[in-house]
Amino acid sequence: MYKIDMHTHLLPERLPNFADKFGYGDFIHLIHETPGFANMMKGNVFFRQIAQNCWDPQVRIDEYAIYRTPVQVVCTIPVMFSYWAKPADCLDLSMFLNDHLAGVVEDYSEHYMALGTLPMQDTDLAIKEAERLHAMGFPGVQIGSNVNQLNLGEPQFFPIFEALERLNMAVLVHPWEMMGEADMKKYWLPWLVGMPAETSRAMCSLIFSGVMERLPKLRFCFAHAGGSFLPTLGRIRHGFDCRPDLVAVDNPTPPDAYLGRFWIDSATHDERLLRYVLEMAGEDKVCLGTDYPFPLGDLEIGTFIEKMNLPQSTLERIFYKNTLEWLHG
Ligand SMILES: [Zn+2]
Repeated sequence: MYKIDMHTHLLPERLPNFADKFGYGDFIHLIHETPGFANMMKGNVFFRQIAQNCWDPQVRIDEYAIYRTPVQVVCTIPVMFSYWAKPADCLDLSMFLNDHLAGVVEDYSEHYMALGTLPMQDTDLAIKEAERLHAMGFPGVQIGSNVNQLNLGEPQFFPIFEALERLNMAVLVHPWEMMGEADMKKYWLPWLVGMPAETSRAMCSLIFSGVMERLPKLRFCFAHAGGSFLPTLGRIRHGFDCRPDLVAVDNPTPPDAYLGRFWIDSATHDERLLRYVLEMAGEDKVCLGTDYPFPLGDLEIGTFIEKMNLPQSTLERIFYKNTLEWLHG
C-alpha cells in the first residue's frame, strides 16, 4: 500500500556558523569528524550525534524503501527553531533552512514534501516568510509548542494563524523547549514526560483561547499523537465543566467538541493507544508520522500499524489519505 510519512526531520549537511555570522547565541552548528556522522553543537556544547540519514536524501529514500514508503514530509529539527534569537536573524536562519528544503523537494519531487519554519517571535516577519513559503509551493509549516514559553493562544500569534488559514497552509505543532526541562534533566524526562505535556499544553491553549474556534479552516496536526491531550481529555473536559470560571473564560465551547477538527500523527509506539486515538480523533484524522530518523521515532515506519488487523480502508486513511487532506485541504 502507498505510504506517506508526514513527520520526519531533515537538516542540510552543512550549516553556516550562525553564531559567528550574527555575533552571539547558541545556534546549532555541525562538526563532521567521522564519515557518515556529524555532531550537532549548541554553541560549544555537544547536543546530539546525527547520522547520514539526517541529511542525505538518497540514503533516506533507500531506508524507507525497506518499509515500502516512497514519500516523506520533511521539516527541520525543532532545536533549529531559534525563537530566542533576534527576529531578523531567526528569519535569516529560517530562510536558509526553508530554501534547503525547497531544493530537496525540487531534486526528489517524487519522494519529498516539506514543511517550512517561521520566526514565530516576530508576527510580521513570520507572516512574510509564510507568504514566501506559500509562493514557493510549501503546503505547510512546522511550529513549536510554545514560543519563548508564550502559549500559542497568545494574541500576538493570532495574525500568523490567520495568515496561514488564508494561505491554505497546514500547521504541524511540534513539542520543543519543554516546560520544566531544567528541573528534570535526568532519565531523559524532557523527552519522555515534557514532550507529551507540551503538546497537550499547545492544544489546550489553541482550544481554550478560541484560536481553533475563530479559524475553523486552519488545519492543525499535533505531533506524537497529540501527546497527553487525548489520554487526559476526560480530565480536561471535567475541568472545563467544574471550573468554567478558570477554563471557559475565552471560549464557551467544550474541548471535546474539537475532536474531528484536528489531525494527529500515529507515533504512539503502542497498538492500544493507537486504537484509542483512532476512536477519539477520528479515523480520518490520524496520519502515519514517525519522527524519523531519531531514536524515539517509529523507525519501522508504521509496521506495527500493518500488524493491527485494521480494515484496509482505515489503513489507506492512516497511510496517505489523511495526510493529503491535512496538507491540501
Ligand atoms: Zn519530531
